[in-house]
Amino acid sequence: MKGGELDPKLQAELDKCLRCGMCMAVCPVYAAEKDEAAVARGKIAIAAAVASGDLALDDREVIDTLFNCLVCKSCMTACPSGVRFDRIMLSLRAAIVEKNGLPWLKSAIFHILKQPARLDTAMKMGARLQGLVFRDNPGYRAISPRSPFAMLGRDAGFGADRLFPAPSPRPLRDRVPEVVTAPRAKMRVAFFTGCSFQYFYPETGLDLIQVLTENQVEVVVPQGQQCCGTPVLVHGDAATARTLARTNIDVMERSNARYIVTGCGSCGSAWQHEFREVLREDPAYAEKAAHWAARTYDVSTLLTDVIGYRRPTGAVDAVVTYHDPCHLKKSMKVAREPRDILRTIPGVTFREMSQPDACCGSGGSYGLTHFDTSSDIARRKAADAAGTGAGTIATGCPACMMQLLDGTHRFGNGQTVRHYISLLADSYRRTAGIA
Ligand code: SF4
Ligand code: SF4
Repeated sequence: MKGGELDPKLQAELDKCLRCGMCMAVCPVYAAEKDEAAVARGKIAIAAAVASGDLALDDREVIDTLFNCLVCKSCMTACPSGVRFDRIMLSLRAAIVEKNGLPWLKSAIFHILKQPARLDTAMKMGARLQGLVFRDNPGYRAISPRSPFAMLGRDAGFGADRLFPAPSPRPLRDRVPEVVTAPRAKMRVAFFTGCSFQYFYPETGLDLIQVLTENQVEVVVPQGQQCCGTPVLVHGDAATARTLARTNIDVMERSNARYIVTGCGSCGSAWQHEFREVLREDPAYAEKAAHWAARTYDVSTLLTDVIGYRRPTGAVDAVVTYHDPCHLKKSMKVAREPRDILRTIPGVTFREMSQPDACCGSGGSYGLTHFDTSSDIARRKAADAAGTGAGTIATGCPACMMQLLDGTHRFGNGQTVRHYISLLADSYRRTAGIA
């Protein structure tokens, strides 16, 4: 990309930056690295240099700097000028990929994401063969790399002390019928499971379905749904993101559901915002994307604000703190609702962290590509959570659950990490005498 080749809309976005530096106070990468190039203001300056032709998008240092960002949107919440830094970052990364192509490993992984049958087979095979590379950590229901892989991968975030959730040999959509009926159903919703509930946390997905059916909501779990596309979009593969968005929209159009429900901030944000962005110039899909954007809810919002959920009565004795997932709070604007739910559960003592909406450092694959910075961010989150004295960290995003699981193990008190919906499901089960 040379000067003048930037999308004019992007140039207008760059021009909005006042260089005030307010974004520095909230940027987790800046807090870890204390480097101007890490924060939004620095990256906007680099983008402006690219736009004027002073820097090029095939320069390795420029590429590395622009990929050293979690796309957590924290800077956008602090920005007095309303800079849409997410648009800037995603456009620049797409331009990098357009110019240089995708690295072969990303290209291979993203190719499989578009082929659900192959992805399914790969994940099931991975679940069966994981014992060759990983050892069990039963106390955490997680796995850690075995030697010699742990020794070889130590500096790249693959050391023996890392905890990863184990892929399930029986993914979520293999465990439930496509339509899960509810007695005296008042409404039918479609559950967009995303890859994490599907392959890593199927029990949490079952909890979500249980809570909905207990509230007289019939749940469609469409079989043809695919990845939400967030992982490919943040890596600059806009073409694959568009393909996935179109497929998912087609699936939901056939579901006969009134609303889409998610339990993951990144999936929900994709439906509310990113699908509309990537399909805005697609005459066949722009309107459909907008239609579903207005009908997508995080499950907490559906329960508290749309249907008025049945108050839990079963006691769940736990001291709980809550971590705000970045995409859930900063993109979907959901923060009150999960707390409302937690506070209604008998036996739960709720304690806030000092910075509950500070990023956990996950950023999808950021924990692998930028292990040291991600670990530093996780360390601060673990310390904040430990300071509350809570034995359970609840959150609303499976990707955050993965990062918190590892972060509390390496830097914290080894607290239990749960999705808030599982605590509500526990309470319902206690009332029913089945837990
Ligand atoms: S998106 Fe997050 S990591 Fe990236 S610059 Fe903004 S605050 Fe920092
Ligand atoms: S807070 Fe907004 S306007 Fe201020 S430097 Fe950061 S991006 Fe620019």
